[in-house]
Amino acid sequence: MRIRVGAATDVGRVRKQNEDTFALAPEQGLLVVCDGMGGTAFGEVASRLAVTTIMGQLNGSQETTPPQAAEHDGGYLRQTGKLAEAVRSANKVIFEEAQNDEAKSEMGTTVVAAWVGGDIASVAHVGDSRAYLWRKEQFEPLTRDHSFVEEQVKAGVLDRAHSLQSEQQNILLRALGREPDVDVDVSEVPVQPGDYLLLCSDGLTRMVAEAVMSETIAKLRDPQAICRSLVDAANGNGGADNVTVVVAEIQPEGWRRWINV
Ligand code: CA
Repeated sequence: MRIRVGAATDVGRVRKQNEDTFALAPEQGLLVVCDGMGGTAFGEVASRLAVTTIMGQLNGSQETTPPQAAEHDGGYLRQTGKLAEAVRSANKVIFEEAQNDEAKSEMGTTVVAAWVGGDIASVAHVGDSRAYLWRKEQFEPLTRDHSFVEEQVKAGVLDRAHSLQSEQQNILLRALGREPDVDVDVSEVPVQPGDYLLLCSDGLTRMVAEAVMSETIAKLRDPQAICRSLVDAANGNGGADNVTVVVAEIQPEGWRRWINV
């Protein structure tokens, strides 16, 4: 599959700095969003380190074409294993940087990454940045937040509607850079032409309802227009946090050749 991508990031209406970072390599089918934390600008350092490490490690790999879906490794496709490994490398890089510099000791970052190869999207995440799949008006989360409130929802202590008002939304149970090793959640999602992948930071999901995200994709269809519209919506609803949205439209492999004829 090929992908057509869009991306937008904004500081929001309240924060002074944008600690979110994203990166795209559409020719490789690769998308990454990171939401840094740690105060006094070091959240941005952490999210940039994560993105740079992941993109560098996967760009440096020998594969010149998107990895194929046929090769399995430990129950997961090889591309999924490589994506998770790149995320673990990012964790190590940030952890070591935080250990070596007292000022950066509190820094960390979330990560959500998707790698489309063949007809499979490998998704990896740590923290509360999210991935969604939109297909024929259906909008499904591909990730579950590693957060205190998500655990409460899972345990039945809190319902999902009330979780959005919880004052404990900021408590993450997992992030990159806080421990020498990190558990990375991975999944593999079959994709087909016409699908959309959406990756975002919590500055979007706390400000804009999933129904609005889905409607925006259905209405606009252009990845860049979708991203801009959703960032505007987040800011229109208060923009309480940095907001980042990355969208990839899945297209058939032969699309470019066909359009050039
Ligand atoms: Ca955030």
